Amino acid sequence: MQDVLLVRYGEVFLKGANRPHFLKALTDNIKRVVKPLGGKVWLSDSRIYVSEFSDMQACVDRVSKVFGVYSVSPAVEMEKDFEVIAAECVKMMQPYSGTFKVQGKRSDKKFPMNSMEIACEIGGRVLEANPNLKVDVHKPQHRLMVEIRDNAYICVEEIRAVGGMPMGTGGKAALLLSGGIDSPVAGYQLMKRGVRLCAIHFQSPPYTGELAKDKVLQLAKKLAWYAGGMRVYLVPFTKCQLEIHEKCPEELGTLITRRFMMRIAERIARQYGALALITGESLGQVASQTMEALTCTDAVVTMPVFRPLIGLDKTEIMDIAEKIDTYETSILPYEDCCTVFTPRHPVTKPKLETMPKVEEKLDIEALVNEAVEGTEMVLING
Ligand code: ATP
Ligand code: MG
Repeated sequence: MQDVLLVRYGEVFLKGANRPHFLKALTDNIKRVVKPLGGKVWLSDSRIYVSEFSDMQACVDRVSKVFGVYSVSPAVEMEKDFEVIAAECVKMMQPYSGTFKVQGKRSDKKFPMNSMEIACEIGGRVLEANPNLKVDVHKPQHRLMVEIRDNAYICVEEIRAVGGMPMGTGGKAALLLSGGIDSPVAGYQLMKRGVRLCAIHFQSPPYTGELAKDKVLQLAKKLAWYAGGMRVYLVPFTKCQLEIHEKCPEELGTLITRRFMMRIAERIARQYGALALITGESLGQVASQTMEALTCTDAVVTMPVFRPLIGLDKTEIMDIAEKIDTYETSILPYEDCCTVFTPRHPVTKPKLETMPKVEEKLDIEALVNEAVEGTEMVLING
């Protein structure tokens, strides 16, 4: 007899011929996160099981954050001996009160009782042992699941997990990671769909300092957990910003800055093998996030730009940031390169056709090349 964690997967089920590939990615990701707990992971009969770990709660916490996991249940695995199973069920239901139902499931047809008989007999024994429980087969407060497979498994709690798709099955993308609240959340949303990320951060020393950089690396570390590691590219951006400040109309400064970020990011993304860029923009949040401004930003790249937060309010984004534990780091008060040269009256409806004109005094190629060449890569462990 041993404690196991029973892991159910969601959408992976739908993947037809690709299912083995998705399941392997899912199992590998679970193995990675339970490794520090000493857990053993195996796949059997459309379920994943984890055993031999040091701490059930820690195991639940970790596995329920693995993308592709639908729910988890702390369970007990034992031999297929009815008396042993019944005794364990009685023990498992001892702390509960209210209404319950036993759900029997017999996959092993050689087991002498069918699902119905298992449920009735165990229900009777649990009732007898615990006077605080009543049966309700329609809307029970607790469901005791008894499954007869290669072994017998019983469980009562089912904890909802994050869902999504297994890490690595969705391709690669590059996240423009500032130190703010939004971009880590945007990255998380795509990681949840199985996308492996690198992060690209623009820094403008001496206007931005070491603390701002450390903050971004801390944020990257939080995201890296989900992937077992992440590359962070640190782009020297001071020269671009100074040139823009000096040679372009002030009210378009932020927008032109954003266009440079996209050009540089696309080049780095290609080197990394990414097929898309990700930003934390949300429609109308600031002047550079109106439809007109986003049109001007997208025009300088050919890669798709994913903006998973486009339709979310700031408060909704903050809620997710709290949930994924990036919020506290994001609100640390260090300067971002965008805030250094913020125009007083930014244009909210820029015209795409005027962009080449307003950028004509800049040597775009040279500035982009210099930034890409000066980029430093830091590998963050998960
Ligand atoms: P955030 O909370 O992510 O900083 P924001 O509301 O402050 O977002 P902006 O500063 O306009 O918005 O930036 C929009 C997006 O541009 C960010 O979500 C991020 O993807 C990218 N970005 C902004 N600054 C940087 C930076 N210094 N390095 C990398 N990406 C950046
Ligand atoms: Mg920002």
